[in-house]
Amino acid sequence: MPVPQELEEIQDLKWDLSDLYQGPDDPHFFQDLERSRARAGKFQAAYKGMSVTALSSPDFLRALKEYESIQEDGLKPFLYASLLFAENTQSERYKALMQGAKEQWNELENQILFFRLALVGLSEEHLQTLLTHEPLKAYEHSLQFLRRFREFTRGEKEEEIMNLKNMTGRSAFMTLFDEFTGSFSFRLTVEGEEKEMTGSEMLSLLYSPDRELRERAFGNFLIHHEKNGLVLTAIFNALILDYRVEDGLRGYRGPMHRTHLENEIPQETVDLMMEITENHYRLAQEYFEIKAGLLGLPKMKNTDLYAPLPGIVKKIDFDQAQDLLLQSFQGFHPQFAKIAREILEKRWIDVPVRKGKYGGAFCAGLTPALHPYLLMNFTGTLRDALTLAHEMGHAIHFYLARKQNFLNFDPSLPLAETASVFGEMVMTRALLEEEKDRAARQALLCAEIEDIIATVFRQNVLTRFEKEAHDRRRDHLLTSQEIGDLWWQANARLFGESVEMIPEYRWGWSYISHFIHSRFYCYSYIFGELVVLALFEKYQEEGDSFLPCLVDLLESGGSGRPDDLLQRVGIDINRAAFWEKGFRVIRGLIDELKNMGP
Ligand SMILES: [Zn+2]
Repeated sequence: MPVPQELEEIQDLKWDLSDLYQGPDDPHFFQDLERSRARAGKFQAAYKGMSVTALSSPDFLRALKEYESIQEDGLKPFLYASLLFAENTQSERYKALMQGAKEQWNELENQILFFRLALVGLSEEHLQTLLTHEPLKAYEHSLQFLRRFREFTRGEKEEEIMNLKNMTGRSAFMTLFDEFTGSFSFRLTVEGEEKEMTGSEMLSLLYSPDRELRERAFGNFLIHHEKNGLVLTAIFNALILDYRVEDGLRGYRGPMHRTHLENEIPQETVDLMMEITENHYRLAQEYFEIKAGLLGLPKMKNTDLYAPLPGIVKKIDFDQAQDLLLQSFQGFHPQFAKIAREILEKRWIDVPVRKGKYGGAFCAGLTPALHPYLLMNFTGTLRDALTLAHEMGHAIHFYLARKQNFLNFDPSLPLAETASVFGEMVMTRALLEEEKDRAARQALLCAEIEDIIATVFRQNVLTRFEKEAHDRRRDHLLTSQEIGDLWWQANARLFGESVEMIPEYRWGWSYISHFIHSRFYCYSYIFGELVVLALFEKYQEEGDSFLPCLVDLLESGGSGRPDDLLQRVGIDINRAAFWEKGFRVIRGLIDELKNMGP
């Protein structure tokens, strides 16, 4: 990506990783790797083959803390190497450093696997006895979490065989998917010039103001997938079969069961959430119709969904984005602003676009003993300012969760997007309050609504499709025709009469990496977004008195089940009324947009 002239001055806004190591040659990096392996070896020698039930509560606590600490320290070199790799994915040196650290980390995990299995195997009765020892209470949730997999975990030998066979099975297919689709290159004529592009560059053209270009780019992208359909369909089928076989061996009940256990959400809650989302598809359709009007089209195609509104190209430099962030966070909660300021000042964030740098944005929470790092590619758009608010929200979440121990640190998936989406909403609200220009206000609202539609409605479509594909694969191999049909039908339900899909979209399923990498991951996006919308509604109702509850929720990290943690802030996810709250917020945003007039 070329760096625009006006952004050159932010080139020095690179992150400062020296809190971790002084550089890729830092001897501490290699010493840490070595030391962790040695500690894991000692741990093995001390506890392997011994029954954990024979340990007294204080001895059990000591073993558990050592098990925790080996992981926390052992992860540091790997996390550092991943950050270096994100900084420059083209560097052979960083690639090798990361691969080496990753292999060592895997080895370390295998060394202490026996203890995890012992924890999984604890009986409820024994666990209750252990929990009478006060200091063990802090581990109650992690231990209960592991125990949920007791019924589905096999012996150490079988687990080891499955791990080893996965390297040439499921993992190999995942890697093949990444490397194969990563090798795709596309030819496209843009402004009279033929260009060679990567997949993500092609997809980014969906945000182009040029309608014909949007359609041509996306169509071309999908046709290329169709041409490689044989491989993509085979990978898709193989992975679903692999999961089915493993689920069968382990005794899981249905393809979503394991994901529900991992997310700690009951099946009925997910069903309720998806059903209510479907009942509101009309709301999304109403928005699509309004947007068609704003774009001056009789009807939108699915390549118009993310089109910018005509005439709005607002540039914003990083200083402005930073001020905006700090001001809006200050207005929301001074503690948010304080943490954000520290992160910016200490340069725990990598801002500029550089050749070879990882293309998206992320926040790496690391461990409670360390602090988060953020990465983004700032190109000077409003979208980038909102991305800054989003990633900063994640960072604040991790920062606050440092109160927790390592095993309770990472927020569970369904709550992982709480602070990030909140951050985005806070900035959008602040922008809307300041912006007087009607067209700019419309653009802001559209961006917010489109974000919500992409996280709630679209993810519901993806999950329905995925569920259907897993169900059908139970009795036969899926043809690409059949997968395409399922995909088309699931999308048609959302779009209704309001959006026309381009014919190539039959292959829209084939590039979505979530289907390959993390089965049924998509529904946690719906969950997370609707939770945040409900929290936001609560904040609007209760004002500042709600803030201590929010901070408490963020500080809890992953120390409890999502329903328990949310119960503490007065939210009951098992009631339909709760899920309806989120749709009321969406309704309100659409009305706000409508009231601005055409
Ligand atoms: Zn996020």
